[in-house]
This record gives sequence, C-alpha cells and structure tokens, in this order.
Amino acid sequence: MAARRIILLGSTGSIGTSTLQVVDHLRSLGESVEIVALAAGSNHALLAKQATAYGVSVVALADARHAGSWSHDARMIHGPDAARELVAQIAQPGDLIVAAIVGAAGLAAVLEGIARGCDIALANKETLVAAGALVMPAVKAAGVQMLPVDSEHSALFQCLWARDDMQEIERVVLTASGGPFRGMPRVEFESATPKAALAHPTWSMGQKVSIDSATLINKALEVIEAHWLFGLSEDRIEALVHPQSIVHGFVAFRDGSVLSQMGPPDMKTPIQVALTWPRRLEGVGTKMDWTSLSSLHFEPIDHEAFPSISMAYDVIRAGGTAGAVFNASNEAAVEAFLGGRIRFGDIWTCIEEAVEALPATPVASLSDVMAADASAREVVARRVETLTANCP
Ligand code: NDP
Repeated sequence: MAARRIILLGSTGSIGTSTLQVVDHLRSLGESVEIVALAAGSNHALLAKQATAYGVSVVALADARHAGSWSHDARMIHGPDAARELVAQIAQPGDLIVAAIVGAAGLAAVLEGIARGCDIALANKETLVAAGALVMPAVKAAGVQMLPVDSEHSALFQCLWARDDMQEIERVVLTASGGPFRGMPRVEFESATPKAALAHPTWSMGQKVSIDSATLINKALEVIEAHWLFGLSEDRIEALVHPQSIVHGFVAFRDGSVLSQMGPPDMKTPIQVALTWPRRLEGVGTKMDWTSLSSLHFEPIDHEAFPSISMAYDVIRAGGTAGAVFNASNEAAVEAFLGGRIRFGDIWTCIEEAVEALPATPVASLSDVMAADASAREVVARRVETLTANCP
C-alpha cells in the first residue's frame, strides 16, 4: 500500500514537533506514513534538522531573511506566501495536511490544500475563525475530510462520529482549564506580566495560544471553531471551566444522554486520532491513570472577569468579516502584550475597539477576509500607541 503522504505546516512549533513524534510512533507500529514537505516561520535551523531526519526535499520558510544562508539539500520556498506556494507545488489529492501554523498566516495554505483534494488535520483554529464561511463550503465541495486536532473539537468529533442529524444534539460543551488567572478578580491580573500569563497550569503550548488561554480568548476562538466545524448556532455551544483538563468536551443529546471524551492533557493523542481516523491504534500520548483520579471538578466561567466568550457569541451572530476582525485584532494585541507595549487587560480593549470600528460585511473571497484582517491590525496598531503610555 502507498504511504500516506503528510504535509506538515508549522513543523517547528509545539503541535508540529508533537506531530513528528506521533509520526515516528506510527512508523514504529509499521504504519506507512511519509512526511513529504515541511513549513515554518523563521526557525530555519530546526527546519533543516527536520528536513534531514524525514528526508524531505522541499520546505517553506515565511521569513525570507534566511533564504540566502540556506545550505540544505532540500529546496526552499521562502516569503510570506511560502506555505501556500509549497502546498500548491507539492500537494496531491488524498494527502493529509497537518495545519499547525499559528494565526491567520495559516489560512491560505489550508484553502489551497482543500482545493487540491487534501484532507486537513486542523490545529490552526484561527483559519476557521477568520474564514469558516469560505473553508467549510470548500471542504464540502472538494469532498475532503476536516479532522480537528484541537483537543476539545477532537472530543466533540469523536462523540458526534456517524451522526448525520444535528437536530439530535441539544448542545455541545467545550471545557477550559481556566488558565493561570482562574478564580482571580480582574483587578488582580489586569497588569499581569507576559511571564505570569504564559504559565499555563495544564498544557504546554506555543506563546500565542498560551496567552489566548490566559484571556480565555482561546475558548472564544474554539466556540467559533465549533460553530463552523459542527454547524451549530451559538446558543448550542457552551464553555465550562474544568481545571484538570481531563474531560475535553461533552455532547448533550436531546434524549438526555451525554457523551464525553476524556484523556490526560497531551496533544499527541488528538493528533494521533486525526492522523489515523477512523482507526484506533496503540497510542503514544500519556494514558489515564484512573487510580490517581478521585474526582472531576467543573465550574462556570466568570464572564465578568473574562468577557471573551460573550465576544465569541457576538462574532457568530454578526457573521461575515466579524471573525476575521476578532481574530486579527487579538493576534495584534497579543503581539503587543508579549512585546511589553500594552497591559494584559488591554488585549480585550484592543479587540473591542476593532470589532466596534469595523462592522461585519459579507465574505465572498479570501481577499475580503484578508482586507478585514489588515484593517483590524491597523485599528489595534493605533490603539496600542495610546495604550503604551499607560503600560508599566
Ligand atoms: P507555536 O508557536 O509553538 O508554533 C507555531 C508554528 O507556526 C511554528 O512552526 C512557526 O514557525 C510557524 N509559523 C509562524 N508563522 C508562520 C508563517 N507566517 N508561515 C509559516 N509558518 C509559520 O504554536 P502551537 O504549535 O502551540 O500552535 C499552532 C496552532 O495550533 C495554533 O493555531 C494554536 O492555536 C493551535 N493549537 C495548539 C495547541 C497546543 O497545545 N500547542 C492545542 C490546540 C490548538 P517558527 O517556529 O519558525 O516561528
């Protein structure tokens, strides 16, 4: 049997490196999987090591500054559009694209892959938040599979598998660890440092998603992601704090039954699920030790301290470009926060300002999405200038 070809976008990141561990594991089980291309942002040294280890002949790097010094045998495509160009050049129908680039930067490559008949293992939730209105119809038209990697969506996907009638579903629930500031009043974390905000209690992740977890914007992005993945309106998607991160999601059916999916917080498990679905092979991720688990704890989200989820519901109701604006303004605000230019609490201020300044308009093409994305970043850039003065 021919090997399953995998194109790994975002190979140098947290999800990307975990994906390579899952691939190594699947190979050790005798599975026929081949990494045919890799893409990264700027980490050329790790990209070169990965290209050697997996015998990859073509790579993409967004940061063109390293192109001149690239001495590896693998051909390099470089520049801001490199990941999409890589997919355009190498993808074949039936390939699996693992979409693990962070942010809206991953969107064009995913759309390119779908158009070329590739299945998508999606970690890059920002793609659906910004452009679900383009991505999901494209998935349907191309007849490819969209396999969620996000642990909560993988949970819902597994619970919903083989159910065609979404009217059977009353609602779905996404769990949230609550992040490092769970249980604190807003005033206590309003001026938190990047170091404190990056200290996630249960998951080890890239910087952007760690800050998103601290603001609960990550959960807001996931609510929007669930809306697109499962075709559910916002009143059927809930979020709940579950600090242990063992139960990843629930599906409540109309008849009163509730299904959930559980497992220790280890992204290798949902990655493996996406890579082997619908088969279940010996897992590489951490397994549950049921003897060490005496209780499961849940609590409601404090929406006053963390306004993120209500913002997500507004975005779903507004539709059109609202998702692109919400996502891009958050990306820009998180960057400003990590750069020490705004306070932690200002992240919400920046998003609110962009959403208010840029009312939703219909999305018909990728350029509509990218124009909204660019406008949102401009609004935030202007706001950051005024906020920087207040930053400690
Ligand atoms: P990281 O920051 O660890 O990695 C991001 C990856 O994207 C890196 O390989 C980076 O390259 C690459 N990248 C950044 N910009 C570009 C660009 N313009 N073009 C091509 N590649 C680029 O993030 P994570 O792995 O944590 O997260 C990746 C995605 O998965 C995010 O959307 C996140 O929300 C989602 N996710 C992550 C989870 C986790 O546990 N980490 C859980 C669920 C979802 P370089 O290293 O060179 O900068």
